[in-house]
Amino acid sequence: MEERMGEVLTAARDAASLRAIVAKDTMKALVYRGPGFKALEEHPKPVIQASDDATVKLVKTTICGTDLHILKGDVPTCAPGRILGHEGIGVVESAGAGVTMFNLAIKC
Ligand SMILES: [Zn+2]
Repeated sequence: MEERMGEVLTAARDAASLRAIVAKDTMKALVYRGPGFKALEEHPKPVIQASDDATVKLVKTTICGTDLHILKGDVPTCAPGRILGHEGIGVVESAGAGVTMFNLAIKC
């Protein structure tokens, strides 16, 4: 893991900043808290659970029409507490052993 972390940091534009972010166990998350309510909260970072999982540290993100409908309460299957956001560009931070199409530190 230490060697993989080194690869991430080597590729980063601002290695010191990325090192501090990667070292944290938490991340900022936009959370749906019911119709018309959202919050920016600190949440645990996701972890690899299956060999084909990967985690991506987002560097740029946005919200889309789906997120706007969720925030208005138009999507009854989306319960309060859901972390929003599925549009982004980031750097692969960790990957399971079965991930072969992406390398650590690659932008995706
Ligand atoms: Zn979308």
